[in-house]
Amino acid sequence: MTAPHHPPVADLADRLARARMAARAAEVDALLITPGPDLRYLTGYDAIPLERLTCLVLPAAADPVIVVPGLEKAAAVASPIGGLGLEILSWGETEDPYALVASLLPTHAVAGLDNHMWAEKVLRLRAAMPAAEQVLAGTVLRELRIRKAPDEVEALRRAGAAIDRVHARVPGWLRAGRTERQVGKDIAEAIIAEGHVRVDFVIVGSGPNGASPHHELSDRVIEQGDPVVVDIGGTMPDGYCSDETRTYSVGKPPAEFVDYYTVLQAAQAAACEHVRPGVTAESVDSAARDIIAAAGYGEYFVHRTGHGIGLETHEEPYIVTGNTELLEPGMAFSVEPGIYLPGRHGARIEDILVCGETDGERVNLRPRDLVIV
Ligand code: ZN
Ligand code: ZN
Repeated sequence: MTAPHHPPVADLADRLARARMAARAAEVDALLITPGPDLRYLTGYDAIPLERLTCLVLPAAADPVIVVPGLEKAAAVASPIGGLGLEILSWGETEDPYALVASLLPTHAVAGLDNHMWAEKVLRLRAAMPAAEQVLAGTVLRELRIRKAPDEVEALRRAGAAIDRVHARVPGWLRAGRTERQVGKDIAEAIIAEGHVRVDFVIVGSGPNGASPHHELSDRVIEQGDPVVVDIGGTMPDGYCSDETRTYSVGKPPAEFVDYYTVLQAAQAAACEHVRPGVTAESVDSAARDIIAAAGYGEYFVHRTGHGIGLETHEEPYIVTGNTELLEPGMAFSVEPGIYLPGRHGARIEDILVCGETDGERVNLRPRDLVIV
């Protein structure tokens, strides 16, 4: 069974309509969206980011238009944009697409630019519309993207199951005498083989490298007794991302490691159990952090507990002290506390959760007990 790569056109039309309403409410005259997750979210068009300008112009009070380079027009028509019936304005190689965008907006427009727009495009739009005010479209679109619709939750479940299948195979590749890079290559191939279209990251942190949360791969040879942090993720054909960490041990780990792994496992479970509508994002962080601190490892938990996930691996909401936003059904994020002893070893356990009506649903289901291979 193959999952659809795009939401139904009716859903996309609804997203465009809601984005326009949100823009109007925020007193933004138009959203200007270049290729990236916002464009894909709103139109289903997974456009290639190029130096040539592709830009969805979504006015708060008029019909949307997409400006595309002439040579990209066929690709745009073939995407859900064609089915949406969006007006497509293509520009020739010697025309100025920025002037074309400017001609669609009032002189003193408040223009919401997508958060990932390239700086060169931001500055050229500013030059083409000197009297316009540029603001971030993200402040408008976050209200839509932060709460996942049921089909998006289903997409995250598929991504979670795919990365679970990769983790299920990891013990077969981890053994003393192999390098992190060799293991990483096996994992990267499996990320694709298990249904992703892109490998986003492969972290294999063995022994002391496990104490560096974003260590990726090195030529370090894995030794007997090494704990190994394996944090991996990719993008599925529908654009939704996976992200899951498990910590393994090659042979019998040091006793000290076993002690704090037990603490970490309790902390991760407590934070997951804390998830429900109406609690703050920061309280999920505290649920994990308090347990780790009480066991004396507080100074070794050096990052926030989690990040939102969807069409991007890192998006809102962030599960971090200071984020008092209340969780709501449909919010999806990681719960990934870690304990890192510099120069020695480290551990992290990470699941993606979706906040439901009464509690959090994990989309990653691999066992969280330490796996000794
Ligand atoms: Zn991760
Ligand atoms: Zn993560």
